[in-house]
Amino acid sequence: MQRTKPVFPWLTAELRDSWLETRTAKTLEFSVPDWTGHDAGQHVDIKLTAEDGYTAQRSYSVASASTPGSLQLTVETVSEGEVSPYLVETMVPGDQLQLRGPLGGWFRWTEDLTEPVLLVGGGSGIVPLMAMLRQRVRSTVEVPFHLVYMARTPDHIFYTNELHTIAESRKDVTIDRLYSRSGVPTDARPPGRLGLDDLPGPTDLGPARVYVCGPTGFVESTAGLLQTRGHEPHAIRTERFGPSGG
Ligand SMILES: Cc1cc2nc3c(=O)[nH]c(=O)nc-3n(C[C@H](O)[C@H](O)[C@H](O)COP(=O)(O)OP(=O)(O)OC[C@H]3O[C@@H](n4cnc5c(N)ncnc54)[C@H](O)[C@@H]3O)c2cc1C
Repeated sequence: MQRTKPVFPWLTAELRDSWLETRTAKTLEFSVPDWTGHDAGQHVDIKLTAEDGYTAQRSYSVASASTPGSLQLTVETVSEGEVSPYLVETMVPGDQLQLRGPLGGWFRWTEDLTEPVLLVGGGSGIVPLMAMLRQRVRSTVEVPFHLVYMARTPDHIFYTNELHTIAESRKDVTIDRLYSRSGVPTDARPPGRLGLDDLPGPTDLGPARVYVCGPTGFVESTAGLLQTRGHEPHAIRTERFGPSGG
């Protein structure tokens, strides 16, 4: 029997609040009265319509844990981009856009999954992984989570305070922040690209479900490293956000 893909209607979303995560990235909190919730890791399509009827559509991962009636997105400005600068720099509370979803059936984590989880994010690729971490922290399950988060510098880290609080308060959640360009003087690891030693192997965690997200080049090289480290290809789920990026 052939499966038909669900068709999601466009919903009206109104910006309720927004705050900077870094100099170039912002979290946007939308009120979406007809939103029924999502699985952590899923994304939405958003549609902007200009006065002359021209439309632009892009995909954004949901950053928040599932909440009927509202959701948060975190958007990094891509310079010369058509949509991201509008979302980060121009949109103000009360402005509306259209969105549809939740989309994506493969890159999802739900509370009924019992294996340990390894999350590997590069740059804005942290966003769907943060939704998984938030869902995990909010739930009563005790599945170990390990987040490896690669950013250019400490100033490029999203969700700084919340990650610090989770790392301090949850003994079954490990959070490694790594830097590609420049780090902090006390770091034992010098800044640089993600390497084999930065990734836990399956023996450190038990067989794990692995989620990797970020720019295309980061995701491809990380997936290769994870397999070299001994993770089974079928256990590795990936989401690519776009061109090579940083
Ligand atoms: C499933 C999915 C989920 C996503 N979730 C997020 C998210 O949570 N947060 C987020 O910030 N982005 C996310 N993205 C990326 C987002 O959809 C857009 O591609 C991004 O915001 C750029 O759109 P733009 O209109 O500003 O740039 P465009 O006008 O599309 O492109 C302008 C220039 O930038 C280049 N470019 C396009 N996208 C990227 C990119 N991602 N990195 C580097 N260069 C790029 C283009 O090649 C072009 O040269 C996601 C993408 C996918 C497919």
